[in-house]
This record gives sequence, C-alpha cells and structure tokens, in this order.
Amino acid sequence: MKQNIAILCSGGDVSGMNPALKRFVEYAYAKGMQPYFVRNGYEGLIDNQITPASYRDVSGIITRGGTKIGSARSKRFMEPAFRSLAAENLKSHGIDKLVVLGGDGSFRGMERFYHESGIAFCGIPSTIDNDINGTDYCLGVDTALGVIKEAIDQIRDTASSFHRAFVIETMGRNCGYLALISAITSGAEMCLIPEIPIDIHEYTDCYRSQIEKGRDYFIAIVSEALNSNEVSQWFEKELGFESRVTVLGHIQRGGNPSVYDRLMAYKFVTYAIDALIEGQNHFIICYNKSHFNFKTIDEVALHPYQLDEELLTLAREQFLPSHCQM
Ligand code: ADP
Repeated sequence: MKQNIAILCSGGDVSGMNPALKRFVEYAYAKGMQPYFVRNGYEGLIDNQITPASYRDVSGIITRGGTKIGSARSKRFMEPAFRSLAAENLKSHGIDKLVVLGGDGSFRGMERFYHESGIAFCGIPSTIDNDINGTDYCLGVDTALGVIKEAIDQIRDTASSFHRAFVIETMGRNCGYLALISAITSGAEMCLIPEIPIDIHEYTDCYRSQIEKGRDYFIAIVSEALNSNEVSQWFEKELGFESRVTVLGHIQRGGNPSVYDRLMAYKFVTYAIDALIEGQNHFIICYNKSHFNFKTIDEVALHPYQLDEELLTLAREQFLPSHCQM
C-alpha cells in the first residue's frame, strides 16, 4: 500500500514556499508515496482541509511568492483537544508523516503533537527574518534581501538627485540580519540594528565634516526594532538635511523566488522526505557551514538567534561612529 505524506505552511509566508511545494509533490511521487496538502497551517489540520496533491496543483507555481496552500497562525492548536482532532483528521487520511514549513514556534507545537499522536514531522526553517537559532539559513531570506536591494537602489536614485537623507526601515523583528546585509551590500552610510548599540549623536561631527567636503545625500538602513522616525528627525535637526522615512514593510515578504531560495527549497524538501522515509520522526532540518543536518527542537530553540560574530566584527568596523571617516 502507498504511504501517505503531507505538507503544510505555518506562521509567516515566505518566497520559496511554492518551490518547496512543487518539489514535495514531485519527490513524494518519485518515492512511491501519495502527497497531500494541508491548507492554512494548523487551522487546516483541525478543520480537515487535507486533500491529495497532484502534479497539476504545482504546475507553474515555482515563479510565485507566498504559498499556494495558505498559511496561518492557530490559537486552537495550542489546546490539546484541538490537536487531538487534528491527529484524528490526519489518521483518517492514513497520513503519518508531515513536512512543516515554519518557524521555531510552529516546530515547538509540532513536537508536542508528535509526542501526543506519534505522527512524525520534519520542520523546514522558513522566515525572512533569518532569526532561527541552529540554522545559518532560513528559506525566503535570499528573496527578501533581493527585494530590499532593489528598493534601496531605487531610493538611492531619488536621494542622490534631490540631496536628501533617506531612512529605510527593514523587517527582522529583533534580529538585524536583513538590515545589516542590506546596508553592507547597498553601500549605505548608516546601519542601525539591535545587535550594535549606537548613539547617533556621535555621528554629528563626522557627518558635518563629510557634508562640508561634498557629501550631498545619505542612505541609512534601520532595523524595525529601532525607531526610524527618530533617526530621520536627527538628520533634519542636527544636520539640517531634509529627510524621508521609507518603511519597506510587507513587500519584503513577496516576490519571484530567487535562484538560491528555489535551490534551498529543493534541497530542504528532498532531505526532509529522505529522512522521514528512513524513520527519523521529530526533527528540524538545518543548514550550517554549507551542510544540512538534523536537530531537535530543543537544540534549535535552546538559545535566541545570534548574528554571526565575524559579520558583526566587520559591521562594527564599517558603521560605528568611531570609525566614521571625516
Ligand atoms: P513561528 O512558527 O513563525 O515561530 P508562531 O510562534 O506564531 O510562529 O507559531 C505558529 C503556530 O504554531 C502558532 O499559531 C500555534 O498554532 C503553534 N504553536 C506555537 N507554539 C506552540 C506550543 N507551545 N504548543 C502548541 N502549538 C504551538
């Protein structure tokens, strides 16, 4: 008899989920399994939105951001009674293996679910914030960085023509990864992230001197955990520079999945299905130092995510006021 395997998306969507769904369906069939979709995350598990998936469901989706099967957060899944209903639904379809695209909250929920129901799962880290401890890379990050790069490049065109300071706010919750990589790769003058505390008033003398020597616009990248309006006001009051804030917001979540995210989706899903077939039953597939490996939720969520120390050292040399070139 054919083995059944299901996939769902939980929490924030990312570009890369659709390429993952496509690989999931194709690889499950290649392994002689019947793939299923669960719509709308854990809500769909509880409401039995579980259907067999076919090639037709995934044709043409590799170019699209978001997720064709929907994603959700679910308060009900926090309650044992609803998890029990979810388990019954899966079992009624003969499904005992599940691939979950989500964050560490989703994996924590799945771990409970596994211990209660015996249904095996593999978590694939998926968030543009890249803030999951235990993996260097999360699905969707590269596409988000590409979207931010495009936006900053375009803002630079107007900033340079109109001699303004542009303060650009990126997503990332409490993690400065998106802001930092974007600031470095876009040639920004300023980068403010929670991991590197900076008093912006310490830039005043240096920037004044740069303006005297001909600098006529600024690009500042600010992580969403910090106050971009305050930074903008500082440019106006301290430097007399007209300033505008651009909050990039949810455009960072969407867009045509990058080559790298398509490849990572392909690899994450392939190794996840292989490991589930081999009998691993509650794990998260992580990517460290160019290798895939399997970790438990306790290993993944043991510490809060920390930015790579080497990157932080480079960033301090670039962005601390004490290194500002007059
Ligand atoms: P993320 O997966 O991005 O970290 P959340 O923390 O919002 O996002 O978790 C997503 C969903 O996972 C929640 O809406 C809830 O359904 C489920 N979940 C999170 N933590 C638990 C838990 N301790 N027990 C059961 N379910 C949980």
